[in-house]
Amino acid sequence: MTNKITNTKLEAPGLDAFQCGALITNKHRNIIYANAYFSNELNWQVEKLIGKSSDDLFTFSSKIFIESYLMPLLLHEKKCDEIQLALLDGKNNRISIIVNAKMDDQGHIYWSLFNATKRDKLYEELIETRNKLEAQAKILQSMSVTDELTGLMNRREINLRAPELLNQAKRYVHTVALLMIDIDHFKEVNDSYGHLEGDRVLKELGLRLKTFGRQTDLIARFGGEEFIMLLPDTDASDARLFAERLHKLVSEIHVNCTPVTVSIGITMSDGSHSLEDLTKQADTALYKAKSNGRNRTEFDQTSIYTG
Ligand code: GH3
Ligand code: MG
Ligand code: MG
Repeated sequence: MTNKITNTKLEAPGLDAFQCGALITNKHRNIIYANAYFSNELNWQVEKLIGKSSDDLFTFSSKIFIESYLMPLLLHEKKCDEIQLALLDGKNNRISIIVNAKMDDQGHIYWSLFNATKRDKLYEELIETRNKLEAQAKILQSMSVTDELTGLMNRREINLRAPELLNQAKRYVHTVALLMIDIDHFKEVNDSYGHLEGDRVLKELGLRLKTFGRQTDLIARFGGEEFIMLLPDTDASDARLFAERLHKLVSEIHVNCTPVTVSIGITMSDGSHSLEDLTKQADTALYKAKSNGRNRTEFDQTSIYTG
């Protein structure tokens, strides 16, 4: 099969048909040619542009940019690509454009100007969307690690962060204390005064634990009315003192004029145990504290150090 080449001559419409601005300036940067794009799209009368300085087409800041960057580049390289400038149309509206330009040996400059308004708008929208997504991601990230009611870290987060703390204890030969704290007879608070009152107690306890702990302690709401604190660089007697002060602090919270109490189970580690093992040991100690009458602290006897 052969292609039939017809002899029809197409009337070339020339630069006026292009959907971009074409401009030629002489060595004094006076306009000697402008295509119809200037009249069709940019509110200029082409005849009135001829003889004008190309400077008259640009905003003040673009003029500075042309003098300091575009002209030196043209003189040196004879061409430049994708320079973003702001053009003034015939009605003095600012229009964002992308410029490609070329200079010949006589100092004529051939300017191609592409309207970039839509691209700029799209870019702005993109930035706005990205900022929104980043803000949302931050909120989601914080929600995924935080317990909503108390603002403490949740169980998943302490599970993730505990190994590093335990490894550090091992590396620097420190002991770590894990406290499991459980509110006594909390069900009665809910049953007698309602769930909202129960929530208030949980929030208050969370707040106190947060302000009481050191920056390096990991404090989490572990379950319903159970909290754990992982204290680095703490020996058994420090842990016992800490628990005593904690009992006092908790008793500042009242439900119908009665101080709230907690039971605490403590286990100690040199960092060679997993969080799971430590919570099991602390839970055993907590169980003992409950059966020994509540509002007290007990140490796990299987742990390597006891207070
Ligand atoms: P003990 O002294 O043996 O620990 O008794 P307790 O009543 O504290 O323990 P129990 O396990 O019987 O009850 C715990 C209660 O905690 C039951 C549950 O409804 C309540 N609870 C768990 N999560 C929340 C919560 O987010 N808000 C409120 N208000 N109550 C909760
Ligand atoms: Mg409990
Ligand atoms: Mg309880």
